Amino acid sequence: MPRPNPRHPNFPIPGGPVLRAKGWRQEALLRLLENVLCVGEDPENLVVYAALGKAARNWASHRAIVRALREMEEDQTLLIQSGKPVGLLTTHTKAPLVIMANCNIVGQWAKAEVFYELQRKGLICWGGLTAGAWQYIGSQGVIQGTYEIFMRIAEKRFSGSLAGRFILTAGLGGMGGAQPLAGRMAGAAILCVDIDPERAEKRKGIGYLEHVAPDLDTALAMIEAAVKEKRATSIGLVGNAAEIYPEIARRGIVPDIVTDQTSAHDLVYGYVPKGMGLAEVKSLREDGQGQLMAASRASIVEHVGAMLDFQKRGAEVFDNGNLIRTQAREGGVKNAFDIPIFTEAYLRPLFARAIGPFRWMALSGEESDIARIDELVLEMYPDNRIVTNWIRLARENVPFEGLPARIAWLGHGERTALALAVNRLVADGELQGPVAFSRDHLDAGAMAHPNIMTERMKDGSDAIADWPLLDAMLLSSSMADLVVVHSGGGGYAGYMTSCGVTLVADGTDAAAERLGHALTNDTALGVIRYADAGYEESFDEIAAKGIGHVTVG
Ligand code: NAD
Repeated sequence: MPRPNPRHPNFPIPGGPVLRAKGWRQEALLRLLENVLCVGEDPENLVVYAALGKAARNWASHRAIVRALREMEEDQTLLIQSGKPVGLLTTHTKAPLVIMANCNIVGQWAKAEVFYELQRKGLICWGGLTAGAWQYIGSQGVIQGTYEIFMRIAEKRFSGSLAGRFILTAGLGGMGGAQPLAGRMAGAAILCVDIDPERAEKRKGIGYLEHVAPDLDTALAMIEAAVKEKRATSIGLVGNAAEIYPEIARRGIVPDIVTDQTSAHDLVYGYVPKGMGLAEVKSLREDGQGQLMAASRASIVEHVGAMLDFQKRGAEVFDNGNLIRTQAREGGVKNAFDIPIFTEAYLRPLFARAIGPFRWMALSGEESDIARIDELVLEMYPDNRIVTNWIRLARENVPFEGLPARIAWLGHGERTALALAVNRLVADGELQGPVAFSRDHLDAGAMAHPNIMTERMKDGSDAIADWPLLDAMLLSSSMADLVVVHSGGGGYAGYMTSCGVTLVADGTDAAAERLGHALTNDTALGVIRYADAGYEESFDEIAAKGIGHVTVG
């Protein structure tokens, strides 16, 4: 039975044994589509996260997708173009049920202004990474990544512990909302600034944020007390980061770690310029785009100026994947790229082994299914320190949103083995229902983004988007249930291409075959991509795991 959704009452959380589609594979994708709206930021407008990342082009497209998923046979494939269903064709039972191409604009035209115009005409929509691909699981989707970044910094700078350390960040939206909980789980005192009081209250309501301070003085006093007592805490503050960061710097306070996760990538629908109220910004989004872009960029210049100032005074400062340095550089901040990107600075050795954000969703809607899989992960990987530590922390600290789900960074072979073991649990009736698997698009072979994922690759291949395209074709050939190619929308237009995949473990032999091929080949491609760029860790992985890498010359 669907469960009530207190956050968005019009969007009940799917679950239960009753199928509305003609098979579990189709039903699973339908539930995932419902779920991204259940846990989304503005479901009434189909917006899931990252300012404009949408689940479908419009409500008519959404209704047509739901109809198709309910009516389609297992030997058909549904084609989705930028959030609109355009074809339901006969393929075969081992073909993907859904293939999608979202927001891919040819090179010279791939600019924010062109995107906004195409969107205004109703011809395109941006799927973010996981919104349009129906893979978003709420703020949990990035939480382990954020936690691992903090822990890598702890190891690099603070003898392995963030107890008594102050993290300053901004953005409490769909993804940024993971920061207060990740910071607290890492043992730090974290201050999160957001201009929108509703977002701060929302994160507090779902248990990701502990306190909302009434003003900056109180917030800093709360942080100071926690730092002194080496007590982990998360404090929200309503304000504009372009004002608050410089003010903290002006007071001579230097946080230990500084980052930002406002929607700085989108100067119109995401970032809020200083001095403007939310209502004023909203009213300018349709008719005053040029004015908003200029104002947002000017604010980002000050925002990043303060981040550089903190860096100069010894803070560990990093870009957490929102294009804020790029926007600042275009606004004239020549040294914006003195701030490193998190992927290169902390996580690349993991990606070079194709260890990345893998995730699973209990389609039954039962939290007990995730608890059983948590146990399974601990049984299967007792020596994997990153994943055992994470699962133990997550089951204690991470509240569920929407369909119960878990994320854990696993690599080549590990993902396949886990998914096959879960498929057996489904077959044996040990779980209440099937389980869907996907991963973030920010994964080894799956993303080209020269200012985030592939910045400063060893061989200079940062901007080459062949890899996510190869990944999508490989996944389609490897029987995945849903395969998608996304490119950037809004301010990300022209900056990125990524590939996403979803698989359904329904307990059948056919599912085992799909999971085995698709998950294995997906991570194999990830390792090959990094080997091709010259990363030693990838060659080790190829040798240790017998990955079919072709060498030339
Ligand atoms: P969102 O649009 O849901 O939330 C953005 C938040 O920023 C909102 O709450 C908004 O009120 C706040 N904000 C905007 N301007 C502000 C300002 N000047 N001062 C203070 N607060 C301000 O977006 P999201 O889903 O949380 O994503 C945030 C950014 O992170 C996006 O650019 C997204 O692309 C990026 N992202 C990075 C990763 C990663 O792996 N590192 C993953 C997902 C998203």
